[in-house]
Amino acid sequence: MKLITIIGARPQFIKAAAVSRAFASEGKIKEKILHTGQHHDANMSDVFFDELEIPKPSFHLGVHGGNHGDMTGKMLVGIEKVYLEEKPDLVLVYGDTNSTLAGALAASKMNIPVAHVEAGLRSFNKKMPEEINRILTDHVSEILFAPTELAVNNLINEGVDLKTIHNIGDVMYDAALYFAARAEKKSKIISDLNLKPKNYILSTIHRAENTNDPKRLSAIFMGLLNASRSVPVVLPLHPRTKQTLIKEGLKIEEYKDFKIIDPIGYLDMVSLEKNASLIATDSGGVQKEAFFYEVPCVTLRDETEWVELVELGWNVLVSPTDAKKVEMAVLERINKFGRKAQPYGVGDSSQKINKILGNR
Ligand code: UDP
Repeated sequence: MKLITIIGARPQFIKAAAVSRAFASEGKIKEKILHTGQHHDANMSDVFFDELEIPKPSFHLGVHGGNHGDMTGKMLVGIEKVYLEEKPDLVLVYGDTNSTLAGALAASKMNIPVAHVEAGLRSFNKKMPEEINRILTDHVSEILFAPTELAVNNLINEGVDLKTIHNIGDVMYDAALYFAARAEKKSKIISDLNLKPKNYILSTIHRAENTNDPKRLSAIFMGLLNASRSVPVVLPLHPRTKQTLIKEGLKIEEYKDFKIIDPIGYLDMVSLEKNASLIATDSGGVQKEAFFYEVPCVTLRDETEWVELVELGWNVLVSPTDAKKVEMAVLERINKFGRKAQPYGVGDSSQKINKILGNR
């Protein structure tokens, strides 16, 4: 079985790391990786290939920047050329980015079956570019790997054929389990940043609904700055958020206890997550990692695709409409733990993907 994996953005490298390991362990599936180039900086891309031992991409399109149509269009052209040459039996796409949609759409037009990892997630907010990418990708995919029971139900409600849906759990949980031990040994970020375990807040912010809205962005950064007077805050800054902060003239200089740093590798990130007293984020992956490492989480959004975490009491949704609200929410949630449960499987999702695809 000849399979092409399409990846391009940070969270996809992490998911693919787990699944590619499973493919390599058996060798039945011959995988080639296509990197679209959507994330291209050393600290948003290369570091993950090195640290997580992801096989080197066979194809690199170098497409990044520009508006959604421009980026997705260029990806479609480049991906189609590769499919024409390689004639894969199957294409594997992850998540909800423009790379996901381009990979799936190009394949479906050529009648190449598509398998989608993280199928069925919905925020029910079509203003999110990710929501459009998810819905369209699910509806051109032939094999839908849903991470949760709720994701399965979302697909059924949209009329997707039950026979094509597989609830395999969350591949991010596989990655979290596998790399946590390695992070423990290798990462020195806690001491490098002069942090004390269980005595700081970790934050990441990059969703368009926050970065494209100056009021929300200011509420988040001012709220976190104020909170840092009580508990140190560390925030690895996504390049898109950095761009907007600079454009808006929102000055976040070197505040002593509000440490804004460049994006970091996965092992350092895992170490910061595990040792945080609270995580405040608008990331999908980071919300779940908070739960995997039993750290309370505040999600600075109006809705989440990972509603199980809210129901279990690990996560609260806080709409970042003003700085005081953000500050109070993060300080109040420290030490507020939820109920134990395993809504995302047991860490064997990658092996399940390998088996299901290998048996086709
Ligand atoms: N992450 C990382 N370094 C960072 C910030 C995030 O390794 O500086 C990891 C994080 O642990 C998670 C993934 O990137 O596994 C989440 O990616 P992101 O927040 O960009 O995307 P989302 O999950 O929201 O789609």
